[in-house]
Amino acid sequence: MAGRAARALSGRRGGALKIHRLGLRPKINCVTPQNILNADLHCHSVVSDGTLTPEALAERAQVNGVELWALTDHDEIGGQQRAAAAAKARGMHYLTGTEISVTFAGETVHIVGLGFDADNAELRQGLYNTRNGRRERAQEMSDGLAKVGIRGAYEGALKFVGNPELISRTHFARFLVESGVCKETADVFRKYLTEGKPGFVPHRWATLQNAVGWITRAQGVAVIAHPARYKFTPNEEYALFTEFKNHGGQAVEVVTGSHSAQEYVQYAETAIEFGLAASRGSDFHSPDESHTDLGTLPFLPGTLKPVWELLADRIQ
Ligand code: AMP
Ligand code: MN
Ligand code: MN
Ligand code: MN
Repeated sequence: MAGRAARALSGRRGGALKIHRLGLRPKINCVTPQNILNADLHCHSVVSDGTLTPEALAERAQVNGVELWALTDHDEIGGQQRAAAAAKARGMHYLTGTEISVTFAGETVHIVGLGFDADNAELRQGLYNTRNGRRERAQEMSDGLAKVGIRGAYEGALKFVGNPELISRTHFARFLVESGVCKETADVFRKYLTEGKPGFVPHRWATLQNAVGWITRAQGVAVIAHPARYKFTPNEEYALFTEFKNHGGQAVEVVTGSHSAQEYVQYAETAIEFGLAASRGSDFHSPDESHTDLGTLPFLPGTLKPVWELLADRIQ
């Protein structure tokens, strides 16, 4: 319901919202100016597993009406300067961003960092260490695929890689589609790249404590990305949110391309239960693969505190 109401508002809205609204305090139980800001704080470029450059993403975001943007490449901030410059050139406000891979309770969890100082040495080193090992993992994935008759997957995936430090499952998926093994990337994940499948290699990423610590000590805000995507029991999910808070985490993605309308409502309640601010982001990767485009999600429910309220001083 919140989504439909927000979409209706979006349709009626005229010119761009002014950023001074970020400084206003939200009223409870209504769609506030802060909440109807068209913020898109989650997407990927060729610096990780997206297919567009930071500049092309900035253009697409602007065309779609995004007012506050963040590029959040996986375990990598090499695209931040380009993204910030492109946002500035297009009159969009910008927050620094990344999406850190974490291992929690045996599962991979993603923690988005927003508004951090991109020159922070501890954060940079932490991200470097997290990226490290991707190449070796990719080689093992390729070996696993070779065992079921798919040869040359490592070299094939590399053709799709924009950043040699950031070879991901997505690049393998694109290669398997190109070589006709599957029709689309979602099928590749289902048949080859998820737990128990031939190309899946268990991997240990950063700890939750480290990822949240790196972000917050660099003056950023840590955000639990797309919580509905994890296969946790209710107890494990409770532990994730509790430990995340204890380590200094402050926000959760409520409205994301990975959530259904029902999940917006569910995680809006979780945000309130845990006293977390809320974020909004498409998780856009590619015009050919992503079903949610930049800046096209429903607005945040008005009952929630938008994450950008915590980051007013960090907006560029
Ligand atoms: P990696 O960090 O190498 O494990 O790759 C994770 C990335 O794979 C995610 O960020 C998504 O972009 C993509 N991905 C994961 N699961 C799926 C899926 N079921 N369908 C399509 N893409 C997926
Ligand atoms: Mn990705
Ligand atoms: Mn993710
Ligand atoms: Mn993502």
